[in-house]
Amino acid sequence: MSEHQAASRNIQTFVVHDDHDERHHGAVAMPVYQNSVFTFPTQGSFEEAMSDSRDRFMYTRGNNPSVRQLEERLASLEGGEKARCFASGMAAISTAVISLVQAGDHIVCVDQAYGPAKDLMVSVLSRFGVETTFVNGASFEEIAGTVKPNTKMIYLESPTSLRFELQDLRRCAELAKRIGARTVIDNTWATPVYQNPLAYGIDLVVHSVTKYIGGHSDLLGGVVIGSEQLISQINREYLLLGSIMQPATAAQVMRGLRTLPLRMEKLQQNGLEVARYLEQEPLVAKVNHPGLPSHPQHELYLSQMKGGGSLFSVELAMTVEKAKTWVDSLVYFRKGFSWGGYESLMYMPIQHPDTEAGENVIVRFYIGLEEPEDIIRNMQEAFAKL
Ligand SMILES: *Cc1c(COP(=O)(O)O)cnc(C)c1O
Repeated sequence: MSEHQAASRNIQTFVVHDDHDERHHGAVAMPVYQNSVFTFPTQGSFEEAMSDSRDRFMYTRGNNPSVRQLEERLASLEGGEKARCFASGMAAISTAVISLVQAGDHIVCVDQAYGPAKDLMVSVLSRFGVETTFVNGASFEEIAGTVKPNTKMIYLESPTSLRFELQDLRRCAELAKRIGARTVIDNTWATPVYQNPLAYGIDLVVHSVTKYIGGHSDLLGGVVIGSEQLISQINREYLLLGSIMQPATAAQVMRGLRTLPLRMEKLQQNGLEVARYLEQEPLVAKVNHPGLPSHPQHELYLSQMKGGGSLFSVELAMTVEKAKTWVDSLVYFRKGFSWGGYESLMYMPIQHPDTEAGENVIVRFYIGLEEPEDIIRNMQEAFAKL
C-alpha cells in the first residue's frame, strides 16, 4: 500500500489509483500471475523463504501476487489489517467459522442468516461437537439471553438478505468481548462502502465478492477481513481446505472494485426510488428496506451504516397465483438467486397457495443499473393487468 493510497480519504480515489510500479514496467492493470509455483535460484534462498513462508510467494495455494493485490485493497477498504480471498463467499464463511471453533463450543447465529451458512452449522459443525442456537437478531436482548459459558462465536448478518433485519453491531461486539467470544459478520449487502463493522469492534468481516464487489455476475469469490492475528489464525485452515481464489479471478475482482463506490451510489439511489414507489402501491402490504423511514430499525440503520444496497423485499397482499402473474409481467427482472450485478433480478421463494389466509407473499427484488423510471413504469403496467 502506497502512502498516497493510505492517506487518501476519498474511497473512489482509493479504489482507482495505483502508483507507478516498475516491477510491472508501469503496466496500468497489474499483469495476472497465472502460475502455481515460485522458484528459487539456490537451496539457500529456498530455505530462507521457507523459514518465513507464511507471507512469501512460494506456491499459489498459499500466496500469489494477483490475489495479494486484491487482499490488500479489500483489507484497507474495510479498515482491517489483513484479508484472505477465497473461491466463493461460502468458502470464506466456512473457513472463518471453522478456524474459530472447536468441539464443545457453542455458536449464537442470527436465524435469518444466509441459508448455506446456517446449514454449515446445522449439518456439518454439529457432527464435530459444535452446537448452534439460532436467534432473532433484531432483538439484542434475545442474543444476550442466549449466550452460554461456552459460547465462542456470535455469527451476524446485518441486514439479513430476505427480511432485511439489522443487528446492533456495537452492542453485539461489546457483549462478545465481555464473554470471550468472537464476532463474525456477513457484510455482503452493505459492502465496505456503506458499513465497516471492524470499526465497531466486530472481529471478522466476510463478503461474497460474487455480489456487489465483483459487480458483473461473471465470477464467484469471497473474502475474510480482520486483524493480523485473526487472519493468521485462519491461514492454516486456508492452506488445508484449499478453497482459494484463482489469480485470474482476483484480477477480475480488482476490475469490479474500480467502480464499486460509483456503482453503489447509483444502485442505492435506484433501489430506494423503486422501493419508495412500491411503498405507495395498494397491493404492496410492506416494503422491507432499512433505508426507508418506515423500516422499524431505520434509526439503527442511520447510526451504523453510511448507506445501503439495492436489494430489498416486498410483501404482497395477494394470492400466490396473482403474485406469480404479476412477477411474470416484470420484463426487467430475470428470476434467479443472486444479486449485485448490473442487471435487475428477482427471487420469489417457493410459496404454497394454501399458506394461511391473510399471509402475504414475499418477493425479493434486486435493482440493477437500468433506469428506475423504466422499471417503475413496467411495474405499474403489471399491476394494472391484475
Ligand atoms: C451469495 C451470498 C453468500 C455466498 O456467496 P457465494 O459467493 O455464492 O458462495 C453469502 N452471504 C450472502 C448474504 C450472499 O448473498
